[in-house]
Amino acid sequence: MPDEITVGTATAKRGELQKGIIKGVELNTTTRIDIPVLVMNGQRDGPTLLMVSTQHGIEIQGAEVILRIMREKMSPGNLRGAIIGIPVENPLAFMHHQYLSWIDNLDLGGGGSDSPLTADEPNGNATERLAYALWQEAWRQADLVLNIHCNTRPDSLFFTEINLGNSSTREKLEKMAQAFGVTNVVERDPIPDDAPDTLANLAVKNGIPAILIELIDGRWISEPSTTVGVRGILNIMKVFDMIDGKVEPQEDIPIIPGTCTWREMVHANRGGLIRFLKTPGDFLKKGEVFAEIYDLYGDVLERVECPVDGYIWSYPCGDILGTSGSLQAVQTGAQIAHVFTSDQQ
Ligand SMILES: [Zn+2]
Repeated sequence: MPDEITVGTATAKRGELQKGIIKGVELNTTTRIDIPVLVMNGQRDGPTLLMVSTQHGIEIQGAEVILRIMREKMSPGNLRGAIIGIPVENPLAFMHHQYLSWIDNLDLGGGGSDSPLTADEPNGNATERLAYALWQEAWRQADLVLNIHCNTRPDSLFFTEINLGNSSTREKLEKMAQAFGVTNVVERDPIPDDAPDTLANLAVKNGIPAILIELIDGRWISEPSTTVGVRGILNIMKVFDMIDGKVEPQEDIPIIPGTCTWREMVHANRGGLIRFLKTPGDFLKKGEVFAEIYDLYGDVLERVECPVDGYIWSYPCGDILGTSGSLQAVQTGAQIAHVFTSDQQ
C-alpha cells in the first residue's frame, strides 16, 4: 500500500479519509454525471480493499453498507491497508431508478448481452466509458474487490458467488466467501484469456479476486441486509488482517450449507399473475410444484415444477435484465426462479 492513494479526485495520505469523484460522462445539457468515491488510507500497511455497489441502479442496499463501514465502523487509525468505497457505480441507472443505464440500456457489469460491455474501451458509448473509468481509477489498483448486488424481493436468500476456475484468485476467493458467511455459490469454469473484458473478467485476468455479494430487498435500505452486509465485510477485513477481531458468524437468516452450484433459470411457459408456494431456501424435490401461473379469471394455467432436487435463491419474476424484479406477473419465457444445488443437501 502506497503512502498516498488516489482515486479520481480523492487523494488520501496515511491516516486520512477523503471524498471525491471519478469523472463520468456529460449529458446533452453539458451536465456532468460523475461517480462519488470515498478513500480511506490506514495508518499501517495492508491490502487495498475496493467495495462497490449499485452496478445495477435499483440495488442500493450495498451503498448503505459501504457508507456504514466507511463513516461509522472504520477509522484510518484502526485500519491496516486502504479502503476504496464506491456506493453507486452506475449513476446513470441509479438516477432513473432503473436496473440498466437509461441512456443506452447497457449493463455496467457487462452481463446479459451477446456482445458484453467491456471496461477497456475509452472511446465507447456512455456506459462503457463509466466502466473504463471505474477500471482505470479504482478496480485495477485493488487487491480485493467486493461487488455488492441485491435481489429485489425481501424473501430471497443472501448469497455470495465466486469463480474458482482461475488459480491466481481461487484461494483468496474461498477465504472471502467463508468469512462473509452466507450461502456460497461456486463456478468452476476458468475465465479464458479471450473472454470479453468486463470489469469482473478484467479483475480475474489481472489476478484480483472479486467476490459477488447478493443482499436482499434491493430497492430499499433495510434489515437484515445492512447488518449482514456490514458484518460479512468486516469479517473479510479480519481474515485479511486489515482490522483486529474475530469472525462473527451470520445469524437469523437461512443459510444453505456446503458448496452450492447454480443449475438453471426456470422460465414461464404461460402468461399471467404468479403465486409462489415455496420460500427461497426450502429444499425442493425434482418435479415439486413451487409456483402457479393464473389468468385474470383466476384459473390456474401452469403449475411450475422444480427441475432438480435443490433450492431456489430468488424469484426474479420479470422478463430479463431490464425488468428484473418488477411485477409479480409473467409472460411466456419470463424468468421465474434461479435454481441451485448443494453438495451437502
Ligand atoms: Zn445486480
